[in-house]
Amino acid sequence: MSERKYNIQDALKRTDARHVLGLSGGKDSAALAVYIKDRYPELHDRMEYFFSDTGAELQEVYDVLEKLEAYLGKEIIRLSSGRPFEHWLKVHNDFLPSPRQRWCTRVMKIEPFERWIGTDDAISYIGIRADEFREGYISHKDNIKAVYPFIEDGLVRDDIFQILEDSVGIPEYYKWRSRSGCYFCFFQRQEEWLGLKEEHPTLFDMAVSIEKEAGNGYTWVQGRTLEEVAQHAMNKRKMLGPRATKTAVRWQDSLRSGEEDDDPEDQSCLICSL
Ligand code: SF4
Repeated sequence: MSERKYNIQDALKRTDARHVLGLSGGKDSAALAVYIKDRYPELHDRMEYFFSDTGAELQEVYDVLEKLEAYLGKEIIRLSSGRPFEHWLKVHNDFLPSPRQRWCTRVMKIEPFERWIGTDDAISYIGIRADEFREGYISHKDNIKAVYPFIEDGLVRDDIFQILEDSVGIPEYYKWRSRSGCYFCFFQRQEEWLGLKEEHPTLFDMAVSIEKEAGNGYTWVQGRTLEEVAQHAMNKRKMLGPRATKTAVRWQDSLRSGEEDDDPEDQSCLICSL
């Protein structure tokens, strides 16, 4: 593991190193980019913003990136493994990735990032907040150091929402999903799979096809096919009845006041979802 807790002031002195900030399409990394631009403009000038594109992202993620590019006045560099998920699935003998077999993150996110950095000295800015206890993937490479500006400056969840509301807005998919990442991400909760079916039926069908074609008994959600998962979530919703959301609460406010995306058990890595 590389050395941690490199501090911002020390990082600023490192004119010999590359400064990189990975955007996942999620709220925290987006807010961090905005924060760096507004709070540390000299760092923003040097920053290389990047996004590791798996090719299986939601359209909403590209919308966020577009808004961010406009706000930042800088290009967000797109990295890729160069091959679609289906290729990597074959390479992994049709074994669907899972929380225990996270080959997807390694081949589609981390390796493209490490190839892009190469042997350069780099300082990577990470959007973990002061009120979080997540570790997150940094890098096992010694030439990549990490800085945590939100932790250092004491920013918590509510600050992140404020930063986004004042700049590029909260990514739209948070209406029905608690994290960014691939449309078929196995970290989705059951109601989020149902959300995918309702919001992006074609993508849901594609995830169903991948599951069927893998055909080795493995499913995205252990012990259930996706169709069963969506049906189960629908039944549960019917049982609970219509939500008491008839009051005019904006979804942004309801999200902000909740903690639905702050699952301490959430093992999805930062490069995918933060
Ligand atoms: S978002 Fe989910 S499926 Fe996609 S690379 Fe990350 S962990 Fe894997």
